[in-house]
Amino acid sequence: MIELKNKSQFEKMKVAGRITGEALAVGAAAVKPGVTTKHVDEVIHDYIVKCGAVPAFLGYGGFPGSACVSINEQVIHGIPSKDVIIKEGDLVKIDTGAIWEGYNGDAARTVMCGEVSDDARRLVEATKESFWRAFSVIKDHIEHDEVLRLGDIGNAVESYISQFGFGVVRKYVGHGIGRDMHETPDVPNYGRPGRGMRITKGMAIAVEPMINLGTGEVKELADGWTVVPLDGSLSSHYENTILLTDEGVVASTYIEGVN
Ligand code: MG
Repeated sequence: MIELKNKSQFEKMKVAGRITGEALAVGAAAVKPGVTTKHVDEVIHDYIVKCGAVPAFLGYGGFPGSACVSINEQVIHGIPSKDVIIKEGDLVKIDTGAIWEGYNGDAARTVMCGEVSDDARRLVEATKESFWRAFSVIKDHIEHDEVLRLGDIGNAVESYISQFGFGVVRKYVGHGIGRDMHETPDVPNYGRPGRGMRITKGMAIAVEPMINLGTGEVKELADGWTVVPLDGSLSSHYENTILLTDEGVVASTYIEGVN
């Protein structure tokens, strides 16, 4: 069952989204050579709490941080650690969420620490753009009252990425979001146009392309969290929470000009 959100629920999700987006910006600004991934987590935690919100990730499924901080080949779910020191040239994936009056925001960015390789930069830019391609498909369909299906969204990501030869991660997907961080439906980053569940006004979904420089095959490490590509290639992640309101489609966690 998908619970459709009303206007007052969407208003709470907008606040949760704004705090999430701001927390990501604060976390991104903290990324410098010599800084630990634990430090990035701490500044994000402190920002969310200072806003009067609740860090959504902290304790979620037993996760020990307020943000996932995943370096280079780590795709998602990296555990912040005082032993992991960020270096010049690293790709730092930060994924976090805030809860405001019981409603969630969830978003992720890939931060380039200083000068990165050309391959890394192309991967990061393509991953971000693939999200915005999917966002445009959602916005165009919903705001013109056209039928939108999950396959339209996933295909927008997959078809954009295919031209680069990068690998789309299929094992992990986006999701519905609201009172819970992860709600029905799953939102894959692949699919066939016109196929799959219908997506309508009143829904909120997190779209989150996870793209590898090599193949999209991934595995979970023995720590029970960190996900890495089987081929050890670089990975990038970009996510926003998207609200499909009667007044229009908005990326609640995106702050214009910031991230
Ligand atoms: Mg998510």
